[in-house]
Amino acid sequence: MAKKNLEKIYEILSEEYKVFAETDNEWDNNGLNSTDFKSLVSVMLSAMTHTKRVVRACNALYKKATTPEEIIALKDDELTEMIRPVAHYNRKTKHLKELCRQIIEEFDGEVPNTKQELMSLKGVGRKSADILMNFNFGGETIAVDTHVHRLLNRLGIVETKNSKETADIINDITPKKYKKHAHEWLIQHGGNICKARKPKCQECVVYEFCDYNEKTI
Ligand code: SF4
Repeated sequence: MAKKNLEKIYEILSEEYKVFAETDNEWDNNGLNSTDFKSLVSVMLSAMTHTKRVVRACNALYKKATTPEEIIALKDDELTEMIRPVAHYNRKTKHLKELCRQIIEEFDGEVPNTKQELMSLKGVGRKSADILMNFNFGGETIAVDTHVHRLLNRLGIVETKNSKETADIINDITPKKYKKHAHEWLIQHGGNICKARKPKCQECVVYEFCDYNEKTI
Protein backbone atom coordinates (compact mmCIF):
# COMPACT_ATOMS: atom_id res chain seq x y z
CA MET A 1 0.00 0.00 0.00
CA ALA A 2 2.77 2.42 0.92
CA LYS A 3 4.55 2.09 -2.41
CA LYS A 4 1.66 3.43 -4.41
CA ASN A 5 1.14 6.19 -1.86
CA LEU A 6 4.76 7.34 -1.87
CA GLU A 7 3.90 10.83 -3.12
CA LYS A 8 1.18 11.23 -0.48
CA ILE A 9 3.64 10.12 2.19
CA TYR A 10 6.16 12.73 1.05
CA GLU A 11 3.47 15.41 1.02
CA ILE A 12 2.43 14.56 4.58
CA LEU A 13 6.01 14.41 5.87
CA SER A 14 6.87 17.69 4.17
CA GLU A 15 4.01 19.33 6.08
CA GLU A 16 5.13 17.75 9.33
CA TYR A 17 8.86 18.48 9.25
CA LYS A 18 10.97 21.52 8.52
CA VAL A 19 14.04 21.12 6.35
CA PHE A 20 17.32 21.42 8.22
CA ALA A 21 18.11 24.91 6.89
CA GLU A 22 14.93 26.18 8.59
CA THR A 23 15.76 24.66 11.96
CA ASP A 24 17.99 25.74 14.80
CA ASN A 25 20.41 22.88 14.30
CA GLU A 26 23.71 22.13 15.96
CA TRP A 27 25.59 21.55 12.72
CA ASP A 28 24.89 25.05 11.43
CA ASN A 29 25.22 26.68 14.83
CA ASN A 30 28.68 25.22 15.30
CA GLY A 31 29.88 25.76 11.74
CA LEU A 32 30.37 22.06 11.11
CA ASN A 33 29.48 22.59 7.48
CA SER A 34 30.81 26.11 6.91
CA THR A 35 33.18 24.86 4.18
CA ASP A 36 33.00 21.82 1.90
CA PHE A 37 36.05 20.38 3.63
CA LYS A 38 34.57 20.80 7.10
CA SER A 39 31.32 19.22 5.87
CA LEU A 40 33.25 16.25 4.56
CA VAL A 41 35.22 15.77 7.76
CA SER A 42 32.17 16.31 9.99
CA VAL A 43 30.10 13.79 8.03
CA MET A 44 32.93 11.29 8.02
CA LEU A 45 33.38 11.64 11.79
CA SER A 46 29.63 11.39 12.42
CA ALA A 47 29.36 7.70 11.45
CA MET A 48 27.82 5.70 14.33
CA THR A 49 27.92 8.76 16.60
CA HIS A 50 25.31 10.99 18.24
CA THR A 51 25.29 14.59 17.03
CA LYS A 52 26.33 16.04 20.40
CA ARG A 53 29.51 13.97 20.39
CA VAL A 54 30.23 14.88 16.77
CA VAL A 55 29.91 18.56 17.68
CA ARG A 56 32.32 18.16 20.61
CA ALA A 57 34.91 16.41 18.46
CA CYS A 58 34.57 18.82 15.55
CA ASN A 59 34.76 21.90 17.76
CA ALA A 60 37.99 20.61 19.28
CA LEU A 61 39.42 19.75 15.87
CA TYR A 62 38.40 22.92 14.02
CA LYS A 63 39.93 25.13 16.71
CA LYS A 64 43.29 23.79 15.57
CA ALA A 65 42.83 22.64 12.00
CA THR A 66 40.35 23.39 9.23
CA THR A 67 42.27 22.36 6.10
CA PRO A 68 43.78 19.08 4.87
CA GLU A 69 47.29 20.47 5.33
CA GLU A 70 46.59 21.54 8.91
CA ILE A 71 45.11 18.16 9.81
CA ILE A 72 48.05 16.29 8.31
CA ALA A 73 50.38 18.47 10.36
CA LEU A 74 48.76 17.28 13.60
CA LYS A 75 50.40 14.42 15.44
CA ASP A 76 48.29 11.25 15.36
CA ASP A 77 47.84 11.13 19.12
CA GLU A 78 46.89 14.82 19.19
CA LEU A 79 44.25 14.22 16.49
CA THR A 80 42.96 11.13 18.27
CA GLU A 81 42.54 13.10 21.48
CA MET A 82 40.51 15.78 19.68
CA ILE A 83 38.15 13.33 18.02
CA ARG A 84 37.91 10.94 20.97
CA PRO A 85 34.17 11.73 21.50
CA VAL A 86 33.27 9.95 18.23
CA ALA A 87 32.94 6.20 17.76
CA HIS A 88 35.99 4.37 16.41
CA TYR A 89 38.23 7.39 16.98
CA ASN A 90 41.43 5.40 16.43
CA ARG A 91 40.33 4.13 13.05
CA LYS A 92 38.91 7.53 12.12
CA THR A 93 42.27 9.16 12.97
CA LYS A 94 43.95 6.98 10.35
CA HIS A 95 41.16 7.46 7.83
CA LEU A 96 41.14 11.21 8.30
CA LYS A 97 44.87 11.53 7.73
CA GLU A 98 44.63 9.36 4.60
CA LEU A 99 41.59 11.29 3.34
CA CYS A 100 43.51 14.57 3.72
CA ARG A 101 46.48 13.13 1.86
CA GLN A 102 44.18 11.99 -0.98
CA ILE A 103 42.56 15.41 -1.24
CA ILE A 104 45.94 17.11 -1.50
CA GLU A 105 47.57 14.62 -3.86
CA GLU A 106 44.66 13.53 -6.02
CA PHE A 107 42.30 16.50 -5.97
CA ASP A 108 44.58 19.55 -5.74
CA GLY A 109 43.43 20.29 -2.22
CA GLU A 110 39.74 20.59 -3.18
CA VAL A 111 36.92 18.35 -2.00
CA PRO A 112 35.78 16.42 -5.09
CA ASN A 113 32.19 17.00 -6.17
CA THR A 114 31.12 13.71 -7.69
CA LYS A 115 29.74 10.74 -5.82
CA GLN A 116 32.32 8.34 -7.27
CA GLU A 117 35.24 10.57 -6.30
CA LEU A 118 33.86 11.17 -2.83
CA MET A 119 33.49 7.43 -2.33
CA SER A 120 37.11 6.95 -3.35
CA LEU A 121 38.16 8.87 -0.22
CA LYS A 122 39.17 6.85 2.82
CA GLY A 123 36.34 6.48 5.31
CA VAL A 124 33.68 7.91 2.99
CA GLY A 125 30.89 5.49 2.12
CA ARG A 126 27.72 5.71 0.09
CA LYS A 127 25.66 7.47 2.76
CA SER A 128 28.31 10.14 3.43
CA ALA A 129 28.82 10.73 -0.28
CA ASP A 130 25.05 11.11 -0.80
CA ILE A 131 24.84 13.61 2.07
CA LEU A 132 27.70 15.66 0.61
CA MET A 133 26.20 15.55 -2.87
CA ASN A 134 22.82 16.67 -1.59
CA PHE A 135 23.84 19.40 0.84
CA ASN A 136 27.08 20.72 -0.67
CA PHE A 137 27.08 20.06 -4.37
CA GLY A 138 23.50 20.70 -5.45
CA GLY A 139 22.73 17.06 -6.16
CA GLU A 140 19.32 15.63 -5.45
CA THR A 141 20.19 12.40 -3.75
CA ILE A 142 18.45 10.65 -0.88
CA ALA A 143 21.01 9.51 1.67
CA VAL A 144 19.94 6.41 3.57
CA ASP A 145 21.05 5.77 7.14
CA THR A 146 19.66 3.21 9.59
CA HIS A 147 16.64 5.40 10.47
CA VAL A 148 15.66 5.89 6.84
CA HIS A 149 16.32 2.22 6.02
CA ARG A 150 14.14 1.03 8.92
CA LEU A 151 11.30 3.45 8.18
CA LEU A 152 11.11 2.64 4.47
CA ASN A 153 11.09 -1.09 5.18
CA ARG A 154 8.41 -0.83 7.84
CA LEU A 155 6.25 1.31 5.62
CA GLY A 156 6.63 -1.33 2.92
CA ILE A 157 8.09 1.06 0.37
CA VAL A 158 11.14 -1.18 0.07
CA GLU A 159 11.91 -4.72 1.15
CA THR A 160 15.65 -4.70 1.54
CA LYS A 161 18.38 -6.14 3.69
CA ASN A 162 20.74 -3.18 3.80
CA SER A 163 20.94 0.59 3.42
CA LYS A 164 22.69 0.42 0.07
CA GLU A 165 19.85 -1.55 -1.53
CA THR A 166 17.36 0.83 0.06
CA ALA A 167 19.28 3.82 -1.31
CA ASP A 168 19.29 2.36 -4.83
CA ILE A 169 15.54 1.75 -4.81
CA ILE A 170 14.34 4.90 -3.07
CA ASN A 171 16.46 7.06 -5.36
CA ASP A 172 14.96 5.25 -8.36
CA ILE A 173 11.31 5.51 -7.38
CA THR A 174 11.20 8.96 -5.78
CA PRO A 175 9.85 11.65 -8.12
CA LYS A 176 12.40 14.40 -8.76
CA LYS A 177 10.43 17.11 -6.97
CA TYR A 178 10.79 15.30 -3.61
CA LYS A 179 14.41 14.24 -3.90
CA LYS A 180 16.09 17.33 -2.52
CA HIS A 181 14.46 17.12 0.91
CA ALA A 182 13.29 13.50 1.17
CA HIS A 183 16.29 12.53 3.32
CA GLU A 184 15.50 15.30 5.80
CA TRP A 185 11.84 14.31 6.19
CA LEU A 186 12.56 10.59 6.37
CA ILE A 187 15.42 10.81 8.84
CA GLN A 188 13.38 12.99 11.21
CA HIS A 189 10.39 10.67 11.06
CA GLY A 190 12.55 7.56 11.42
CA GLY A 191 14.56 9.00 14.31
CA ASN A 192 11.72 10.67 16.23
CA ILE A 193 8.67 8.51 15.59
CA CYS A 194 9.46 5.22 13.87
CA LYS A 195 12.05 4.35 16.49
CA ALA A 196 13.92 1.06 16.36
CA ARG A 197 12.63 -0.46 19.59
CA LYS A 198 9.28 1.18 20.21
CA PRO A 199 7.84 2.99 17.22
CA LYS A 200 5.38 5.68 18.27
CA CYS A 201 2.68 4.50 15.89
CA GLN A 202 -0.02 6.40 17.76
CA GLU A 203 1.76 9.65 16.78
CA CYS A 204 2.59 8.61 13.24
CA VAL A 205 1.21 10.87 10.51
CA VAL A 206 1.61 8.18 7.85
CA TYR A 207 0.07 5.38 9.92
CA GLU A 208 -2.70 4.70 7.42
CA PHE A 209 -0.16 3.90 4.69
CA CYS A 210 2.11 1.70 6.80
CA ASP A 211 2.40 -2.01 6.01
CA TYR A 212 4.33 -2.92 9.17
CA ASN A 213 2.71 -5.98 10.78
CA GLU A 214 3.68 -4.94 14.26
CA LYS A 215 2.49 -1.37 14.08
CA THR A 216 0.59 -0.42 17.19
CA ILE A 217 -2.09 2.10 17.97
S1 SF4 B 1 2.87 3.32 11.76
FE1 SF4 B 1 4.48 2.78 13.25
S2 SF4 B 1 5.79 1.33 12.19
FE2 SF4 B 1 4.57 2.38 10.62
S3 SF4 B 1 5.84 4.11 9.94
FE3 SF4 B 1 4.51 4.85 11.55
S4 SF4 B 1 5.72 4.65 13.44
FE4 SF4 B 1 6.69 3.36 11.87
